[in-house]
Amino acid sequence: MNMTYQRLNSEKLLEILSLSDNATAIYTGADIVIQSANEAMLKFLGKDKSIIGMRFAEAVPELVGQPFIGQLQEVWSTGKTYSAYDTVAELMINGKLEKSYFDFKYRAIKNDNGEVYCILHTATDVTERFLNRISLKEIQIREQSLIEELAASNEELTTTNEELLAMNDKLSDSAEEQVHARKDLEKLTDTLQQAMNSAQLGIWSAELVTGKLTISELGKQIHGIADDKEISLEDAKKMIDPDFLDKIISTVRKAINSDHNFELEYIIFPADGSKSKWLKCTGKTYFNPQNKPAAISGIIRDITEQKQDELRKNDFIGMVSHELKTPLTSLKGYVQLLLSKSKKQEDSFAVNALSKVEIQVSKMTAMINGFLNLSRLESGKIHLQKQDFDIDVLIEEIIDDARITTINHIITLHPCEKLIVNADRDKIGQVISNLLSNAVKYSPKGRSIEVNCHLNNEMAEISIKDEGMGIKPQDVDKLFERYYRIENKHTEHISGFGIGLYLCSEIVVRHKGKIWVESQSGVGSTFYFNLPLSTA
Ligand code: ADP
Repeated sequence: MNMTYQRLNSEKLLEILSLSDNATAIYTGADIVIQSANEAMLKFLGKDKSIIGMRFAEAVPELVGQPFIGQLQEVWSTGKTYSAYDTVAELMINGKLEKSYFDFKYRAIKNDNGEVYCILHTATDVTERFLNRISLKEIQIREQSLIEELAASNEELTTTNEELLAMNDKLSDSAEEQVHARKDLEKLTDTLQQAMNSAQLGIWSAELVTGKLTISELGKQIHGIADDKEISLEDAKKMIDPDFLDKIISTVRKAINSDHNFELEYIIFPADGSKSKWLKCTGKTYFNPQNKPAAISGIIRDITEQKQDELRKNDFIGMVSHELKTPLTSLKGYVQLLLSKSKKQEDSFAVNALSKVEIQVSKMTAMINGFLNLSRLESGKIHLQKQDFDIDVLIEEIIDDARITTINHIITLHPCEKLIVNADRDKIGQVISNLLSNAVKYSPKGRSIEVNCHLNNEMAEISIKDEGMGIKPQDVDKLFERYYRIENKHTEHISGFGIGLYLCSEIVVRHKGKIWVESQSGVGSTFYFNLPLSTA
């Protein structure tokens, strides 16, 4: 059967086209006049049918400045179809500028002569697909960077792990070292303990705030305390001979305040009622983190035997000195007798020789007196016989005596005000005489020695200044110790026993005075001592 079809006119065709779900529009002319736009296209453009017949630029003004109008004009003039995908367009939808993404085509429709007579615009909204793809991409990118970050941190972790392993190795090394160190320390402590035991040294430690006393086993034995018994600082104090307490307390206090070590010798009456003992105790202050004195700790030693030896030695020295004094006194008497006889006979040779003998005898007497005093001091037999006297007069007398034996030095006494002191005149005389003879002994011939005396802080202060070899600072503190002598090439030919200054110091301190020295090596020294004035 033959079928004939009626051809649809262009308006009909456009009407049918407008029903399509695909967005479609037809434009003509270089101005791009909208000939037709179906519902779907109008929706994309956010417009209504009123735009049909209008120029594209007027109908959709928000697209001016975007590439589309230019592209349409290009298609019109060149006849070349233009397609694009995922292209963003900003359109005014319900009064709001919105971004949408499109796949679209501007197809140039030509007549038989190849001339463009309209442009067919088809478009698909791909916003959703596009955004999905974008977010997928973003996710992928993020995942990628996450993977990269993970890889980096993994690498870091590996390095850290390696470092940790190395550290662990080191730690186990140092733990091993610590074990070794602890063993070494234990060994050392053992050796120290053994050494302390064989040296018969006890250790003690006292907490200053609580008064808690800790004593080693040997320390307890020394004090006659049972091993399992504890004693307090107060209990220990009660065992000390009261004669020594004041000195102990002041020495320890001084040591705490000045952060110095201390050394003390004293007698105790042990807790078990055994015989009294001489102890030597050394100590040191320990400070807490706030730098406050927290404890004192040190070593104690029973020095009874040593003390007894010393006492025996002192007794012996005392005895010998005493025995020597009698012949020496008679020797001195005879020398003085002969000297005066020789002077009368004007026998200059004998006068000269006997004067020298007299000087030597005086020196020997001074030495013997020194030993005698030392031995008396040590055995506690030194007694002060105090009386009121004018110190100035005594100084003058001593200087006069010294001048007899001092030929090569000039001794000057500066006028002194009348100062009455209450003291043992003989012993203070010995102090002045000792200081004067040292000034002579330790300074070159021809140098002057100046003696001064004045009132200072309610005390009579006496000073003896020389221009001698002086004393180095490191020796100054030790000068007043028993048997201390400075050994150097200047002193090697100067005789002495190192007891003179010790005696001076003991005598002055027993008078509640003070003795000290100011000196500059190579320039000279000034020895000072002071005494309380008489209160009468
Ligand atoms: P010594 O018998 O040795 O003189 P001292 O106790 O009198 O004993 O003196 C102790 C030490 O002090 C001396 O050995 C000496 O080195 C030093 N010394 C004492 N007086 C002086 C002084 N005036 N100048 C320099 N050094 C002195």
